Amino acid sequence: MFCPSCNNTLQKLSVTTNGRGRFNVDHCGHCGGTWFDPYEINRVPFHEVTRLASITVIPKHPISREDSLHCPRDRKLMAHFHGDSVPRGVVLHRCPQCFGIWATQKALAEFKKHQEEIVTEYKISHKPFPALSMIFAPAIALVLLLITTAVTILNFAQTQDNRSRAEELVKQIFVQNITSSSVLLSFQTVSPVKSYISYGETPLDFRSQTISKELKTTHYILLNYLTPSTAYQYQLTLNDAKNAFTTPIAYFTTSQ
Ligand SMILES: [Zn+2]
Ligand SMILES: [Zn+2]
Repeated sequence: MFCPSCNNTLQKLSVTTNGRGRFNVDHCGHCGGTWFDPYEINRVPFHEVTRLASITVIPKHPISREDSLHCPRDRKLMAHFHGDSVPRGVVLHRCPQCFGIWATQKALAEFKKHQEEIVTEYKISHKPFPALSMIFAPAIALVLLLITTAVTILNFAQTQDNRSRAEELVKQIFVQNITSSSVLLSFQTVSPVKSYISYGETPLDFRSQTISKELKTTHYILLNYLTPSTAYQYQLTLNDAKNAFTTPIAYFTTSQ
């Protein structure tokens, strides 16, 4: 992938969440910008933002313009993201297709600092949390936000990183028998779980279906009534009777 701001190759870097999970971001070592897949900008702790900044030596000469940037994943024109969570004067670029967010080094630092200040203020005052949109960037599926909220804000020592746990639970996901209107999705889990799938063309129109009502290790579901030649996003939620874990977003495309 290439940097939307300066066209240099983005570098995969691993960051650690407060919940001791890890995920990768795509970072430009030339201009210091960082690409986040959906939800990830909410999970990166402030100290990791500082670390990312420290490994980039920003050149003195100005880099390219900040407007009309294209998504490094799908080349869609990104839009400025304005929300209650974004402080005035800070510009984040969001892809309308994949919902990833591009942040320059300065914007990222200012956004995360603001986020942390709000969270700290509410923690100290024991006030109930405000609307999630005050703190989080993309106002997408509420359930997913609640999961990332638990990981990002509460910072309990025992909070496991939900998505890496989910990834550990699932052995491999198979998408087979792809037609223009259906796919067969199957996977095995290392321990018995109940399972659910959320899928749609974007996280905004995700619909959910139960895959396994009982605790099982082999899971499969036929998804019907799909649109031909369409890329779908999906996430699995696994429930082991104590906790629910949700996998990162994955994709499949129906045939013509
Ligand atoms: Zn760059
Ligand atoms: Zn995109």
